[in-house]
Amino acid sequence: MNALPPTLIDRFGRRVDYVRLSVTDRCDFRCVYCMAEEMTFVPKPQVLTLEEHFQLAQAFTELGVSKIRLTGGEPLIRNDILSLVKRLGRLPALEQLVLTTNGSQLQRMAKSLRDSGVKRINISLDSLQPRRFRQLTRHGNLDQVVAGIEAAVAAGFERVRINAVILKGRNEDEVLDLVDFAYRRGIDIAFIEEMPLGRILEHDRALSFCGSAELRAIISQRYSMHALGDPGGADGPARYFTLPGSTSRLGFISPHSENFCHLCNRVRVTAEGRLLLCLGNEHSVDLRAVLRSPHYTPDSLKQAIVAAMAIKPERHHFNHEAEPEILRFMNTTGG
Ligand code: SAM
Ligand code: SF4
Repeated sequence: MNALPPTLIDRFGRRVDYVRLSVTDRCDFRCVYCMAEEMTFVPKPQVLTLEEHFQLAQAFTELGVSKIRLTGGEPLIRNDILSLVKRLGRLPALEQLVLTTNGSQLQRMAKSLRDSGVKRINISLDSLQPRRFRQLTRHGNLDQVVAGIEAAVAAGFERVRINAVILKGRNEDEVLDLVDFAYRRGIDIAFIEEMPLGRILEHDRALSFCGSAELRAIISQRYSMHALGDPGGADGPARYFTLPGSTSRLGFISPHSENFCHLCNRVRVTAEGRLLLCLGNEHSVDLRAVLRSPHYTPDSLKQAIVAAMAIKPERHHFNHEAEPEILRFMNTTGG
């Protein structure tokens, strides 16, 4: 057996120190850009147990990973998720435990999440109009999500960030309202360009695509924005701006228009335990097979993770004008 390295480095010299764990592919919403209306989810026996998720997290942190994001699907509808969060919160080498949620369960869970060690939280919000919010999420209730955001603000996370996906013809007229919403609460907001993951029928992605430069032009009509250095580092690929007189930061995640693959420091694990080396490619390794092998040991898992670094692709090739090449939906991928 090869000696284990202290850190994960891929063949392009990028250090991987950030893992996104999708703890479930299921969700109580069906956002139009993320899922089809009718979805087939992974059968439960194929989904990793919470114990298996913990073993993964432990292995990654022992290989130098310092940041883990819980995502999904909707992570907060996974049964007993708080028990996993509490265990992760106690992992000695984990500096940043963070979470992405649709906010539907936050009113009752925000405080426990904070107390269990979650430092930062991202909450998706694409509209402030109840009917439109329902249309975009197909099942969501705006009041419930806004109450969840207020609960997160009250719980005292280091940072709360709204994530918004803007689609032409659907919610582009709400860009300034969404910025105002974050600004008034002193929380961050990031606009994410729609990515062509999974085949959706609800809208034509080539027509709905709204690039970050266009959004910046809209926002600069009301706010003067000051750039906060280059993307990368602790804040990941978002390009951040400060807004005057507020602690709010404004971010743009632009996988199409401002490729940031050279800065990539992350990998993802799907709810079934597939280690995905890139959001926009299918290169993956079946870690569930390692975890469930009769020969499993913590070291065999770490060896598999180290070996996987050799197939991390250099970059994605998203093209919103073509048919998606990646047929998995974002809920599988884990945001
Ligand atoms: N359910 C949680 C939520 O909605 O925040 C976590 C998982 S969700 C897949 C993570 C993030 O991915 C959300 O902010 C969502 O808006 C974003 N997302 C989903 N599908 C997307 C797509 N096709 N392009 C860009 N962002 C997408
Ligand atoms: Fe669910 Fe999040 Fe996907 Fe919306 S974006 S359907 S909330 S997983």
